[in-house]
Amino acid sequence: MQAISIFEIFKIGIGPSSSHTLGPWNAARDFRTSIGAGCDHIQVHLYGSLCKTGKGHATDVAVQLGLQGHDSSIIDVDKITTYLKKIADTKVIKIGDAEVSFDPESDIVFKKVTHALHPNTLIFHAYKNGEHMKESIYLSIGGGFIEKPGEPKSKNEVKLPFPIDKGKDILTYTDKYKSSISDIVIQNEKIQRTQEEIVRDLDEILDTMLACIYRGCTTDGILPGGLNVKRRARHLCLQLNGGKSYNSLNEWLETIRNGPRDHSIINRWISCFALAVNEENAAMGRVVTSPTNGAAGVIPAVIMYYFLFCDYKGRDTLINFMCTAGEIGSLFKKGATISAAVGGCQAEIGVSSAMAAGGLTEVLGGTPRQVLMAAEIAMEHHLGMTCDPIGGLVQIPCIERNAMGAVKAITATHLALTSEPHDAKVDIDTVIKTMWDTAQEMNSKYKETAEGGLAYNLPVIMPEC
Ligand code: SF4
Repeated sequence: MQAISIFEIFKIGIGPSSSHTLGPWNAARDFRTSIGAGCDHIQVHLYGSLCKTGKGHATDVAVQLGLQGHDSSIIDVDKITTYLKKIADTKVIKIGDAEVSFDPESDIVFKKVTHALHPNTLIFHAYKNGEHMKESIYLSIGGGFIEKPGEPKSKNEVKLPFPIDKGKDILTYTDKYKSSISDIVIQNEKIQRTQEEIVRDLDEILDTMLACIYRGCTTDGILPGGLNVKRRARHLCLQLNGGKSYNSLNEWLETIRNGPRDHSIINRWISCFALAVNEENAAMGRVVTSPTNGAAGVIPAVIMYYFLFCDYKGRDTLINFMCTAGEIGSLFKKGATISAAVGGCQAEIGVSSAMAAGGLTEVLGGTPRQVLMAAEIAMEHHLGMTCDPIGGLVQIPCIERNAMGAVKAITATHLALTSEPHDAKVDIDTVIKTMWDTAQEMNSKYKETAEGGLAYNLPVIMPEC
């Protein structure tokens, strides 16, 4: 059984896309360490979806930063322009002691053809004195994960006390030990981290999510890329806050907590939080991949709903939320996909909504069966959702779609909490299989190619490939 840590599902990175930005970034960093002595020139070829929406998803930027050796989880986002200018001016990348020729204009080659191995394939080529030395093929398989053909799919070969492949495996353990899903997940995570490290690292992820929401709610302007999409989260936040002032994040949270709490206002706050995250994502801000960047706003928005508007029971419950949500994300990654280039938007917003629904249900007191039922309900109503980003940018429909995913997750939770799971006709494993079947039958124009749906009917600024 493949072991996927929740820290592979939740990763701190930058926007706008996990499969088109973070995956290629990680691939470029990996390639950099393997080019070998004597290489004096490198090229990268971007195939299929990485070509068709690569510029809108900053794939070209990501490979340059990765080749320079920057780490996406800690890079100073304010310096990215400087780093790119250096390559553009010098047409050289320093790797170890070597100065390797790389002209972004001619050495990033967009190949419209879809590679037989995967819709998101990129191939790096190394040259020495004009002779081809080697090539390295990488597949960006969603959520920032990469694979190299011929190498083991997961480097995470640990032996877990509670191996989990399907939802029914989880229920076997929770029934036997009378435990919550998060308890089981924490026992598995303890194979690789101590309890203190699990809490510390999840705290960092939660803090990054919160900081992202706050930045998005306090930043105005037009998003980059040429669509001229206006940021809306700040304006919505000001409206909802009724002009109340605050000087820090904590004061801001208090003004929300102490403000009006009718259904309409709570609903608008949820949208505001989700918009804030995905506006930051579209602007190459720091976000948490959960399980992807395009869907990074769903889980933070649902966590804020719990934190501000429900019976919040302390920081420990947020850890439990994340453990349960992360495990549900793993179920989808193992049984289906979290890549929009393979499964459309059901694989991004659908999975994040299912994760959020599961996490929320657990912290609101649901049984493990109700947790999985909530995740199933959330996905059931995203089945078949297409990926059709206008202009290849992660903006329309993506930003609003996070608000919708969050609201559906909350509705799924409340349905599950008031239902008897034994009466349900569809279980989590069936919905995961159905999502995978649907993904395989979906026309490729609805899989992150910007060739169908809204992208087809509003064909603006498509990058020349
Ligand atoms: S439409 Fe959905 S899957 Fe496609 S880029 Fe936008 S958020 Fe991601």
